[in-house]
Amino acid sequence: MSKKISILIFIVYLSVLGLQAWTDHTLGTYPTLANMPEIKDAKPVQVESFEDFLKKEGQGLAVLLKEQEEFSRANIPNYPPKPDSLVFDPSDTKNLRKNFLISMRLNPNIPLTYYIQELPGVNVPKSEKFPIENLSVYKDLSFFNRMNYRTLKVKSNVSPLAILATAADEPDYGHDIGLYTDSNSEHGKEMGFGEQPFGDKRFEYSSQAPFHMGFYHEASIVYAAGGFIKRTLPEYRMNQFLTLARFAFKTGHPYWGYRFAGWGLHFVQDLTQPYHTTLLPGVGTTRMLWINIISKIGLDGSKNAMIKRVADRHTSIEHYQFEWFYSIFQNKETDNLMLRAFSDVSGDIAYGEFNQDYIRNVLSKESNERASELDSKIEDWEAIYKFMDYEVRYEDIKDNSNEKKAIDDYLIVLMKSFGAHTRNYLRAALKY
Ligand SMILES: [Zn+2]
Repeated sequence: MSKKISILIFIVYLSVLGLQAWTDHTLGTYPTLANMPEIKDAKPVQVESFEDFLKKEGQGLAVLLKEQEEFSRANIPNYPPKPDSLVFDPSDTKNLRKNFLISMRLNPNIPLTYYIQELPGVNVPKSEKFPIENLSVYKDLSFFNRMNYRTLKVKSNVSPLAILATAADEPDYGHDIGLYTDSNSEHGKEMGFGEQPFGDKRFEYSSQAPFHMGFYHEASIVYAAGGFIKRTLPEYRMNQFLTLARFAFKTGHPYWGYRFAGWGLHFVQDLTQPYHTTLLPGVGTTRMLWINIISKIGLDGSKNAMIKRVADRHTSIEHYQFEWFYSIFQNKETDNLMLRAFSDVSGDIAYGEFNQDYIRNVLSKESNERASELDSKIEDWEAIYKFMDYEVRYEDIKDNSNEKKAIDDYLIVLMKSFGAHTRNYLRAALKY
């Protein structure tokens, strides 16, 4: 591996340590969709077991998965084709769940249980609390402790809004974990994704990073320096879940229609985070390559400083946004600029309808173009780095400075886009 490539890998993997883009997608999805007529007026639907869905629709799903693969090969640049051995066989009724997940190239060990996430501040009686150990594939459950999950029974009724908002967070619970040949997992060897292109393998959720980040707008010289940068896959996931949701709606399985659509929303929302669409926000190509040259002659100080800088800013902005938003719900605020930004529909139409082109040329492009500005605003507000510490709460930082206000205003802009792209994707999923 050349040093030029190794530096870029180093930068990327350190910049994604433990990061999951917007922390908890459920919180933002509730206000984004609560007043959308298609969801507000939708009747509750019955929870259907995953096995029942697969049993009833096996034949149709086999055809759909074949079409998805043809579409991906024809339309997604740098797409790693699915091995033929992963074709979904609906006649193998004993292993439907595992076979289907593997054929979707998802982690077959995800629990896929039945629950909803309530907003912070909603009281869930102890008898209805969903055990957090059954949510994800992770061993570290510290984050889940702060959130609020309610058990659902199969055949009970649940609102489409709750299904969508809950499912929008789910891809961070293990869907894309361990899918590479070097992931140390049984399934990773057969998926056809090759070796993990970036992400620090010492961390249990690093292997999902290439699925949740989309570097579609870097300078050509950067791609030339590290081909691994092209190997990001959120576009693939968005298409898979969009077509799967439409299929479930069309064949009369609304619970799964909403849940699959929610999974797709996750990837749309991740790409509204500029640090997920931009390799090194605030670092020009020339500077990136210059630092590479000086690190070759043994001066690593600049390289390490750059890595730390990007990683710190990425972590700080996400945690700050989360703590701010969490406090809005905890304090039962109903009229806050942040809440209004999520539900503001005024910009939706201007983006056009969600389609294949939208992912790269509308959603990721907008986010990528905002990266430098966001980065410089973070630079200007020193106190934001306090949010590197996950114990710090919104109320702990008392600050009325203009620099803080500039960050808050910019987050409002980002959340407005989060809302608009979420609704545009959902509108596409509901067109079946
Ligand atoms: Zn994510």
